[in-house]
Amino acid sequence: ELQSLRAHLESRVQQRTADLQEANRNLDALAQTDALTGSPNRRSFAEQADRLLVQHHRAGSVLSVVMVDVDHFKRINDEFGHHGGDMTLRAVAQALRGALRDQDIVARWGGEEFIALLPDTDGAGAVHVAETLRQAVAGLNVAHNTASIRVTASFGLAVHEDQSSLEATTSRADAALYCAKRDGRNRVAVG
Ligand code: GH3
Ligand code: MG
Ligand code: MG
Repeated sequence: ELQSLRAHLESRVQQRTADLQEANRNLDALAQTDALTGSPNRRSFAEQADRLLVQHHRAGSVLSVVMVDVDHFKRINDEFGHHGGDMTLRAVAQALRGALRDQDIVARWGGEEFIALLPDTDGAGAVHVAETLRQAVAGLNVAHNTASIRVTASFGLAVHEDQSSLEATTSRADAALYCAKRDGRNRVAVG
């Protein structure tokens, strides 16, 4: 009698523990993901990038950072509404993911900005990748109601220097992005 009660309680506890573990895994995944685009969020990017940087440092390999900013996104919101804007952001995120390799990390940096980290990629390689990304975004036709939304993005890239921080590299990519905007948008600039 007592023994069967005990077995019963133990199995309940095991079930509860398994449920909690699964809930925790789900929460973890949620905390790392941007709800709109399904891309990793900024925090998750920082964590993944830190791990990659350690490996990169050990291996003595080169890596690059690409900052992405959708062009005149305000106009898209104005013309197609917030929902049209949201659909466009999802499509852009998907286009970026689809054009990158498995080892690359792409995340939503905030608003209509994304960031990509490209392992084993030098400046020339990063220009090539960014140009591919640019074309992937510029080729999108985002279906929204009866409209087809067209969109472009600007890209700024920087090669990560071993002695500098990821923040410094990101700032250089950001400065390059500013040049791409200034020079007419829908282009790639190197920092
Ligand atoms: P630029 O070419 O200079 O980058 O111009 P822009 O209009 O893209 O840049 P700006 O920073 O002026 O505007 C960005 C807009 O993006 C403003 C903000 O309302 C909109 N935005 C940010 N996050 C979201 C979002 O999650 N959904 C939608 N629909 N709009 C967003
Ligand atoms: Mg912006
Ligand atoms: Mg913008």
